[in-house]
Amino acid sequence: MIASDLRSGVERLGVMIAESSVIVPFTGAGISTECGIPDFRSPGGLWTRNRPIPFADFVASSDARDEAWRRRFAMEPAFAAARPGRGHRALASLYKADKIPAIVTQNIDNLHQVSGFAADHVVELHGNTTYARCIGCGQAYDLPWVRQRFDAAGTAPDCMICAEPVKTATISFGQAMPEDAMRRAAELAQQCDLFLAIGSSLVVWPAAGFPLMARNSGAKLVIINNEPTEQDDIADLVIRHDIGETLGPFVGN
Ligand code: NAD
Repeated sequence: MIASDLRSGVERLGVMIAESSVIVPFTGAGISTECGIPDFRSPGGLWTRNRPIPFADFVASSDARDEAWRRRFAMEPAFAAARPGRGHRALASLYKADKIPAIVTQNIDNLHQVSGFAADHVVELHGNTTYARCIGCGQAYDLPWVRQRFDAAGTAPDCMICAEPVKTATISFGQAMPEDAMRRAAELAQQCDLFLAIGSSLVVWPAAGFPLMARNSGAKLVIINNEPTEQDDIADLVIRHDIGETLGPFVGN
């Protein structure tokens, strides 16, 4: 059912939240646009400017690695300035109230952790861009370490331990999904009674399979997104409005 207007959507969502005991949110880039981080597919989104660099290209080409890091450094002012928005804060309030055991996110911006979720309770399907890892041995590096070496050598640094390339700790197209996060997301989708898909175009698979999985396991499904998604038909409630306005009323004290 598509909510006829914002107000009735918020009211209906409030009832569904009150009636649920285990709520699992599943978030996409749309929850962070009001924080100044562009999404992928909206007009002005990242894809309209830069095609993503597939994992195989990153591994094969030092030019691709340099380009990936130049893009990441160019985004740093936006990532560094971003603070949790109304959507993040509303979900953190429900987490504090023990309604949400953990959150599943496609986002890489760390804003759910900043809003109050314990890092253990943020299941990151596509990793995290606020730090880096060696793609060989997994050694973690902070971004200033990468930046300093990039600036000094004019090229992206390799791992100090195994000399393999260092990449933001994110999952690129063509890169294997993190097994533990996928397993935990599936468990959460199957165990909740309310699943909230928020700010995702639901076109990036396998992540987009989780709303369907939750619905098939008996949960109610709510989709909050300002444009239609391919899964609107199976949702119990679709709120096609701004996320901050929709979730603002659920921000606690
Ligand atoms: P997407 O760009 O495909 O979809 C975002 C959706 O949110 C769009 O349908 C858009 O219309 C909607 N939206 C944007 N702002 C909104 C608002 N204020 N209110 C309501 N709806 C809004 O993003 P996705 O589905 O998350 O998939 C893209 C992939 O890109 C993810 O896997 C993620 O790893 C990566 N990504 C992450 C970030 C981030 O961490 N903030 C930003 C860009 C891309």
